[in-house]
Amino acid sequence: MPTGVKEIGCELAIIGAGIAGLSAALFAAHRGIETVLVGETGEILFASGLMDLLAVHPLEEGKTWDDPWAALTALRRDIPEHPFARTPTADVAAAFDALLAFLKNQGLPYRRRPDRNVEVPVAMGAVKRTYCTPETVWNGVRALEEKQPCLIVDFDQLRGFSARQIASTLEPRWPGLRTARLPFPGGTFSQQYAEQLAMALEAPRNRASLACDIRACLGTARSVGLPAVLGLYRTEMIFEDLQKRIGVPLFEIPILPPSVAGLRLQDAFHRGLAAKGVRLLPHHRVRGIRYEHNGHFILDITALDGEHTLNADAVALASGRFLGGGLRGDRNGVRETLLDLPVYQPKERAAWHRQDFLDPRGHPVNAAGLIIDDQFRPLGHDGQPVHERLFAAGSVLAHQNWMRSKCGVGLSVATAYAAVNAYQPIDGTRGEPGR
Ligand SMILES: Cc1cc2nc3c(=O)[nH]c(=O)nc-3n(C[C@H](O)[C@H](O)[C@H](O)COP(=O)(O)OP(=O)(O)OC[C@H]3O[C@@H](n4cnc5c(N)ncnc54)[C@H](O)[C@@H]3O)c2cc1C
Repeated sequence: MPTGVKEIGCELAIIGAGIAGLSAALFAAHRGIETVLVGETGEILFASGLMDLLAVHPLEEGKTWDDPWAALTALRRDIPEHPFARTPTADVAAAFDALLAFLKNQGLPYRRRPDRNVEVPVAMGAVKRTYCTPETVWNGVRALEEKQPCLIVDFDQLRGFSARQIASTLEPRWPGLRTARLPFPGGTFSQQYAEQLAMALEAPRNRASLACDIRACLGTARSVGLPAVLGLYRTEMIFEDLQKRIGVPLFEIPILPPSVAGLRLQDAFHRGLAAKGVRLLPHHRVRGIRYEHNGHFILDITALDGEHTLNADAVALASGRFLGGGLRGDRNGVRETLLDLPVYQPKERAAWHRQDFLDPRGHPVNAAGLIIDDQFRPLGHDGQPVHERLFAAGSVLAHQNWMRSKCGVGLSVATAYAAVNAYQPIDGTRGEPGR
């Protein structure tokens, strides 16, 4: 937060710094909209760094799809209220293209097969179906497909990531994986956080030492899988450098949260958005939103350095679901936390959850959220938009269960794109004194 700022103005205020809010800020910057992004850190720090588009539909059948675009067509046909049903395929594709080009420019390239989902080995030896992976993960997609002779490495100091567990879980599908547990170079503690390991690899001497240890146990391995800790801020360089030193393709395996991959995404967004002129207010919480008589919004914001007021022509709510804090559940139901907007939800609390916690259909409460129109504007109790220029995007939207459908990032990015495109500037209000 720029110190001393008590009152600021903008065209579009985005609330929420998860993948939906960050993407909305990017798309707004591309449209030349003067934007302020207010948000506390979101689920992005827990995320694997993988970007799903759509892998499972219908949930009742647990049907998985190789072609995410065909899955989208089926979903739009079957669930016309789903937010994806309001986002044409061309817009979803344009949103992904813009996002991936932006991340590449920030030194965080992603890889995909444009028309196919791929399978990726992840922590614990599970295999996840997704749409895009960080470039540093991609060699694992190929290694799994080809069942290459491969070495999986873990580190003494990193908890929650076991090469042996991964190899034994994958054994039926990918036999013959070899494993090695190595001391992490330069480490003085018995246990370290993933971020500390990632930072340590910024030092060339640590990379040289790690490469030497890995080469010593390489054997016939044609590729090497490592926990996703290969650098935090200069991942592309660190990954290439290690790969060159070791002499075979490397791949990162997403680890359990909190994730270095999420931190990389957040860092890339913050740098890139600031360079595009987006004003970022990270670690700021919006306490309330008021409507002015002239139709503008006033946001009351709390930060470590005090209270702030933000005047905005339009607001995009990207405040997430229960984890993000956009929705809250209590004994009486599920509520939207900022404006108490109507929330689609099961009629009774007893219907929130199914009997079986792991029911593949998901729990009804996880389809709770804001009901919107085609312009991505939340609807009031009268079925009309609550405000002409109040929009919503991401997991706060109703009629979707991103976790079960495997569409988390895709849904957030596509709806952010649609919500920002629905915004029409108010003529004659820009450039007014004090704004
Ligand atoms: C453990 C985990 C693993 C995941 N793995 C994947 C994966 O492999 N592939 C995939 O595609 N997706 C994955 N996701 C999902 C993805 O990361 C996002 O969570 C999802 O897309 C929702 O994003 P969002 O921006 O809508 O919400 P959130 O990420 O919840 O962000 C909401 C933001 O709003 C902020 N906020 C809320 N209220 C206020 C307020 N009043 N003032 C200021 N800020 C506020 C929150 O602090 C937060 O920053 C994963 C998520 C989790 C939790």
